[in-house]
Amino acid sequence: MSEVAENLAQIQAQIARAANNAGRDPASVQLIAVSKTVEMPRVHEAYKAGQRLFGENKPQELVRKRPDLPEAEWHLIGNLQTNKVKSIIGQAALIHSIDSPKLLLEISKRAVEANVVQNCLVQLNISDEENKGGLDEENAKLLLAHAAELPNVQILGLMGMAAFTDDAVLIRSQFRRLRTAAMQFMAFQGPNIRMQHLSMGMSGDFEIAIEEGATLVRVGSAIFGARSLT
Ligand SMILES: *Cc1c(COP(=O)(O)O)cnc(C)c1O
Repeated sequence: MSEVAENLAQIQAQIARAANNAGRDPASVQLIAVSKTVEMPRVHEAYKAGQRLFGENKPQELVRKRPDLPEAEWHLIGNLQTNKVKSIIGQAALIHSIDSPKLLLEISKRAVEANVVQNCLVQLNISDEENKGGLDEENAKLLLAHAAELPNVQILGLMGMAAFTDDAVLIRSQFRRLRTAAMQFMAFQGPNIRMQHLSMGMSGDFEIAIEEGATLVRVGSAIFGARSLT
C-alpha cells in the first residue's frame, strides 16, 4: 500500500470513530482530500485508493489539475477573487468560500452565461481572526437574502475555519458556532438555499468538527504530508 493510501485508510477509520462517538452515521461525513501544492502523481495515488473528492485553494491550480482527473470532484476551498470567477465556473463542484455579495453576483452572472448552476457555501468567520476571511452572522444573513434572488447559484451550507490553537475547547466552541448559524439560517431555506452542509475540520481538528456536525472535512497534510512553505 502507498503511504497516501495508508494515510487515507487511517483517516477514514478516525472519521468513522468520531462519527460513531457522536451517534452519527459515518456515511454522513465526506472527506475532501486537500491537494493544494501536491503534484498529480500523488493525487492519482489517492484516487486509486478510492478517494473521490479533492480540494484546492487556488482557482488556477484547480483548473490546471482537473483535466488530469476529471472523474474526481474538485472543490474550491480557498479565497476567490471576482476576476477569477469566470475561469472556475462549472469546474468546481462546490465553491466553499463565498464571502461577499459582489462575489456571489459575479458567480451568478457567469453561471448564467455558461448555462450551469454553481453550488456554493457561505464562509463564516468563526474564529474572529481577520486573516481567516469570511462573514459574521449578520452579513451572512444579508448575503443569503441576496442569494435568494440570484439565478444559477445554489447555496448548500456554510464553511468555517477554527483558530490555529491546541485549545480543543475553543476549537469546539467555534465549530458549534457554525452549526448554530446554519440552524438559524434554516429560516432562509428556499428553492436555491438549503442548509445541508457544514464544511469544517482540517488535519488537526477534523474529529472535533465531526462531533459538532461536520458533513465535509477538508484534510490535507494528514494525507499527503507536510507542505513546503513556498
Ligand atoms: C490547506 C487547507 C486545508 C487543509 O489543511 P491541513 O491542515 O493540511 O489539513 C483545509 N481548508 C482550507 C481552507 C485550506 O486552505
